[in-house]
Amino acid sequence: MKKSFAVIGLGRFGGSVTRNLIESGQEVLAIDSTEERVNEYMNIATHAVVANAQDENTLRSLGIRNFDTVVVAIGEDIQASILTTLMVKEMGVANVWAKAQNDYHARVLEKIGADRVVHPERDMGKRIAHRLVARNLLDYLELSEKFSMAEIKVQKSKFVNQTLEKLNLTGRFGVNVAAIRRSNGVVELAHSSSVVHEGDNLLVLGETRDVEHLDEKI
Ligand code: ADP
Repeated sequence: MKKSFAVIGLGRFGGSVTRNLIESGQEVLAIDSTEERVNEYMNIATHAVVANAQDENTLRSLGIRNFDTVVVAIGEDIQASILTTLMVKEMGVANVWAKAQNDYHARVLEKIGADRVVHPERDMGKRIAHRLVARNLLDYLELSEKFSMAEIKVQKSKFVNQTLEKLNLTGRFGVNVAAIRRSNGVVELAHSSSVVHEGDNLLVLGETRDVEHLDEKI
């Protein structure tokens, strides 16, 4: 079933969220207080409206409470971001994601009930730093404070031509192998009997420090 999304604030972040939701076939109401921004999204979003999200009556008349997910992507204006998040949550929207400018802002957003607080610049910086220092790590996704998922290239010969059962990466490194990307690009779900070949990438899941440790050794 299609979900309905509203994105409030069409700066770089909110704009990118809107474009990508539309590309993946979702319906998006795009809202911004400046006409210029809204004009940019007229032909992209399902609907685009000029509105000040800080105004409760405006949010009501837009029917915000009927959306499955609302993304509050107001950047600079922290007060507007907080007030909007608070009202959207009070109106009963089940899933509210809010963008934080800094750690204090994030704490407030969490306190007032945002279901997910995102820190795009910080998170992307972290992700890029991991990729810069990593040796064989191709991609990296932080699942929580503690856990990560990563795609790691198998480099050392002692890790190839063996089954996952024999390699025992869970016992030795504390990580689970979820899938294997073969050198031809095909992804296969991992089984204990899967054989790792030269040029394969492993999609692994584990505590971030364990994933990093495996990356150094493999
Ligand atoms: P980014 O860092 O993602 O580019 P910006 O701060 O540049 O973020 O963009 C935030 C957007 O939110 C701007 O387009 C701005 O017009 C919009 N915005 C700010 N306050 C409100 C508000 N009260 N209601 C609706 N949109 C708002």
